[in-house]
Amino acid sequence: METSRRNFLAAAAATVGTAATTPLALAADKFGRDRDWTGDTTVTYPEPAWEVRDKRFTGVQGNATLQRIWHGMGNDRALWCEGPVWMGDWGSLIWSDIPNHRTLRWIEDDGHVSVFQTDSGYSNGHTRDNQGRLIALEHDTRRVRRREYDGTWTVLVDNFEGKKLNAPNDAAVHSDGSIWFTDPGYGILGPYEGHKAAFELPTRVYRIDPSGKTTVAAEGPMRRPNGICFSPDFKRCYVVDTGATDGPQYPANIIVFDVVNNALRGGKVFADFKPGFTDGIRCDTDGNVWCGWGWGGVDTNGVRVHAPSGDLLAFLHTPEVIANLCFGGTKRNRLFMTGSTSIYALYVNAVGAALS
Ligand code: MG
Repeated sequence: METSRRNFLAAAAATVGTAATTPLALAADKFGRDRDWTGDTTVTYPEPAWEVRDKRFTGVQGNATLQRIWHGMGNDRALWCEGPVWMGDWGSLIWSDIPNHRTLRWIEDDGHVSVFQTDSGYSNGHTRDNQGRLIALEHDTRRVRRREYDGTWTVLVDNFEGKKLNAPNDAAVHSDGSIWFTDPGYGILGPYEGHKAAFELPTRVYRIDPSGKTTVAAEGPMRRPNGICFSPDFKRCYVVDTGATDGPQYPANIIVFDVVNNALRGGKVFADFKPGFTDGIRCDTDGNVWCGWGWGGVDTNGVRVHAPSGDLLAFLHTPEVIANLCFGGTKRNRLFMTGSTSIYALYVNAVGAALS
């Protein structure tokens, strides 16, 4: 019964169709450019922002709507949001507004948004370790930090073999307690997201062992290793390459690795994202990979979902580029998306594999 209902809802969503065949009024609603985010204008279910490409996809919650839960105005306006992390015990979502050098906090109870932290080191990505502590990846201060239960911060790593890290970007936590992070260096390309500085190290993926020792997990084939997540069984690791920010001749894809002896081995292309590229990614408990998408024109603004095989399952269209995303809520079935200057949320029929 439940399975057939889900299939029905997925099939219903699949009938939304493509932009080329969709009436303009519906297309505008689908992409959200003219959408009324106050909720005064009703939306006919299933949520029209969904574009299901494969009927195997069961991730559409057929009676849930895409919400823009925050869009700062005036002096409160965010410039570039990334790094969402669900802090369930705080009843909050935390995220970065990188150029404004701050992190923001949305309170689930009443929707209130306030500054969680100024002087954030231009942090980009966030995650939580297996003890639930907040992990921040900082662009300007070029380090990985952990927030302790008393609110103080501990620097986990800021150099490798005596050379400064480039600008750590994103991280994923393994079941063994290790923290794996990417170091593409976007924070030292210019002043907007950090400061301009020379690269002292190659772009890499690193692993911080629970003992505190940091080792190289992968060097290449990614030009700019960025988003990262593990499969639910921790046997595979997905790493985004945003090399295309350096020019169209470079990759915009996800590389999938085997996790072997505390390192990443056998990398091969999992999915290609041109036009545009992906940045932040998360797995659900079925092993599907949920990917922010954008930078390739308005048709690429949103989220893509790929099966563990790499097959494309679905798009979710949004009016802004989605850099990063995470699952949250007490059931981890609510997708939170950092959409450039806004935060979007949507209940889905899927459950996040990781704590955040
Ligand atoms: Mg990133």
